[in-house]
Amino acid sequence: MNDIVSQDYISMVVIKSSHNNACYIYTRNELAKEMITVDTQEITSLEYQRLLVNQNYIYVCDYQQILPGYLLSLKKLGAVCFLVLPIVLKEEVSAIICLGYRSLLTVSEEYIFLSRDFANRVAVALSKASWEEQLYHMAHYDALTGIPNRLLLKDRLQQSLARAERQNSFIAVLFIDLDRFKYVNDSLGHVIGDLLLCEVAQRLSRNLRSEDTISRLGGDEFVIVISQFENIKESLSITTKIANKILAEFSMPFNINNREIFSTASIGIACYPSDGQTTDELIKNSDSAMYHAKSKGKNNYQFYSKILNDVALERLEMENNLRYALERGEFELYYQPKVETRSKRICGAEALLRWNHPQKGRVSPGQFIPLCEEVGLIIPISEWIIHTACMQAKHWQDRGFLSLTVAVNLSPLQFRQPDLIQKVKNIIDEIGMTANRLEFEITESTAMEDIDEAIATMDIFKRMGIFFSIDDFGTGYSSLSYLKRFPVNTLKIDQSFIRNIHINFEDAAIVKSIVTLAHSLKFAVIAEGVETKEQFDFLKDIGCDEIQGYLFSPPVSVDEFTNLLSHNKFDD
Ligand code: C2E
Ligand code: CA
Ligand code: CA
Repeated sequence: MNDIVSQDYISMVVIKSSHNNACYIYTRNELAKEMITVDTQEITSLEYQRLLVNQNYIYVCDYQQILPGYLLSLKKLGAVCFLVLPIVLKEEVSAIICLGYRSLLTVSEEYIFLSRDFANRVAVALSKASWEEQLYHMAHYDALTGIPNRLLLKDRLQQSLARAERQNSFIAVLFIDLDRFKYVNDSLGHVIGDLLLCEVAQRLSRNLRSEDTISRLGGDEFVIVISQFENIKESLSITTKIANKILAEFSMPFNINNREIFSTASIGIACYPSDGQTTDELIKNSDSAMYHAKSKGKNNYQFYSKILNDVALERLEMENNLRYALERGEFELYYQPKVETRSKRICGAEALLRWNHPQKGRVSPGQFIPLCEEVGLIIPISEWIIHTACMQAKHWQDRGFLSLTVAVNLSPLQFRQPDLIQKVKNIIDEIGMTANRLEFEITESTAMEDIDEAIATMDIFKRMGIFFSIDDFGTGYSSLSYLKRFPVNTLKIDQSFIRNIHINFEDAAIVKSIVTLAHSLKFAVIAEGVETKEQFDFLKDIGCDEIQGYLFSPPVSVDEFTNLLSHNKFDD
């Protein structure tokens, strides 16, 4: 434009009529030859109408009127009058070229002619681009539902595969087929069938992130690609969650033309890299897994690989069992002594959850707590844990073990519950125990997640008299500046550092400096996972305050713990 007519500043405004008439403004300062800046503004319907009526040009002077938003970027540079050239395609203003001048200007007829001619050329180029966009859309999107078709699916899956290969990440392909679609089509007609498919596409899209792809292969077959999982466990857990959500979406009737239609779906899942390396392989194998789901009575999902299927099934079974474990009284708290290093006397107990599974026997918390956390079951279960541990603490207190503190582990989800503080207050009041016999352990990563929030919560508990320790210390990334703000009593050194403390020089150095650091911040230090006399001696030498580990005792039942308490000193 600058080669044809002279101006001081220029901007190109692109109007997105589909987005509440937002417009994107690309401005260039011709004088300073500056790079283009981008800005967004709203375009009012009055301004829009004015452009539509004056399709040739509008001459605007800053002194005469309030400027429309799309001219503000030029004004900011110093322009006082403007030539506005609308670009109209198919009776819609799709863009505007705006020229800005630093001084008042009388535009000649020739000037208008030349700049309008340029704007018209831009219009032709834009309409060609939009036509090409339309052609692309027709070739890559399903005409009925508007979601990607098989061609685009393969394209996107191909890209995901390339990325996954580079990043060693995982992908899941879900093949979804409606269970009674032929029946709907035959009995209610194709129009209803088509509307149902559109509604299905909508419902399926609802559960996806923007980076996932949903497509319709044809007929009543849909494929979803979910990518960028870091490990197989994550991919399995998110994929089953999505598959469950999809089945749940189908459990609600579809309302089509005021008629309720019930339709279920069968889902087959194939994962990269285990179930295939190419797009074709993955789609084919998810398809055959889908047939497997049909043969299993429809309205369910199946993984292509038998192993994954078994794991998914086991998780589902475990989840179902966990839902009832609380009611059936299958949970039990074990207690592990915390021992004062100098006197070798028991000063505390950490409550550790055990699940007495009717068939599997005693299941360790590592196997089921993450699942409880994921499905939200941790909330009711941990309420039971706090209640039970507090009752026990009170009981031991009443029996004369006055200096014993009982520690409860708080899971990340639980720690972030807004009503946690109130619940704990209620429990303490109800039981009538003194709050300073209770301690909470949260892991370093839980504390660091939303630091200010975490500090505020811990502060309130601390003012109530409850102790706090930072569990698994050394495995997260506490910044020192935050650490000093933590209202905690104790740092609990993670067992991974203790394990090789007497053979690994670096671990010994880390532990030593944690003890020094903690003491200078006025925290106590406890080491967990202490199994040998050598480890104990080292920790005692460097001034570690408390010790927990198999050397003294594993976690034990209430009766055994009470027994330990009545001796209350471990031999030298
Ligand atoms: P944690 O809080 O770090 O608990 C310490 C784990 O180390 C316990 O495993 C304990 O039995 C084990 N341990 C203790 N001494 C030694 C030792 O000398 N050597 C070795 N190798 N291990 C030792 P456990 O009971 O299986 O619990 C595992 C994790 O499960 C706990 O780690 C905690 O994160 C979680 N957990 C346990 N009970 C609860 C609970 O009631 N609530 C919540 N939210 N999490 C719990
Ligand atoms: Ca712990
Ligand atoms: Ca720990």
